[in-house]
Amino acid sequence: MNEKTIKAQVEFIGIGGGRKAMLSQKIKTGGIYLRFDKNNVNTGIFIDPGVGAFIRGLEQKISFKEIDALLISHCHTDHINDAPVLIEAMTDSGRDKRAGLYGSKTAIQYISNYHKTCLKTVKIFKEYEEFDVNNLSIQTTKTIHTEKNNTGFIFDNSIGYSSDTTYKKEIAEQYKNLDILILNVCFFKNPYKNKDVNYGQHLDAYDAVEFLKIAKPKICILYHIGISILNHGFEKTRNFIQNNSGINTIIPKIGKKYKYVC
Ligand SMILES: [Zn+2]
Repeated sequence: MNEKTIKAQVEFIGIGGGRKAMLSQKIKTGGIYLRFDKNNVNTGIFIDPGVGAFIRGLEQKISFKEIDALLISHCHTDHINDAPVLIEAMTDSGRDKRAGLYGSKTAIQYISNYHKTCLKTVKIFKEYEEFDVNNLSIQTTKTIHTEKNNTGFIFDNSIGYSSDTTYKKEIAEQYKNLDILILNVCFFKNPYKNKDVNYGQHLDAYDAVEFLKIAKPKICILYHIGISILNHGFEKTRNFIQNNSGINTIIPKIGKKYKYVC
């Protein structure tokens, strides 16, 4: 038996990101639910429960009690807002002390002590760490973002999540040759690029092309999509990234269960 065979299911609760998408909900926000089956051990991981995670999670019939780990990359509202209510849904408001909260320093600080006591595990991580949830290994990666504690993730050397970051060759190199890369691309063309401002530190479609030429995943899933991409056109943006990078790229549908064998 090939030890590395993992069945992964990726379900998007939202696909939007950035201030404008979050506040208008013209592109719904809410996070990503991953289910892994590795050697018959099932692990549920919910990443970045932003605005809408709980309500849309209910609508999508997410079984919150099957989430083993809530992973929070950083303390921006579009990534963390619904964490407290998700913790209550995962633990029957603390009556069933189970599961874990894993987050960067500022993310964990944002969560109340009451909510932390509902859980079995609370862990603060930094970039370049590795830890396990059940039999699944999770590595944290470096990002360049306004929230300095932010990290990305790589699950079992197969599935990557870039989280929010600006582009640099060394950032892309962390995700080389994965099966799936979930890439946070907020703009078609980032108007704040290379400007010294405290916002807009995100990839645009041009950065995504350079990123993918280096990382070369089998599939790229676009996530954290901002209003600038809605205005340019979802399909036009996807085509631009796919045609210029040569990497199979999709914009996921909210609520659809994408199944992969890695
Ligand atoms: Zn952010």
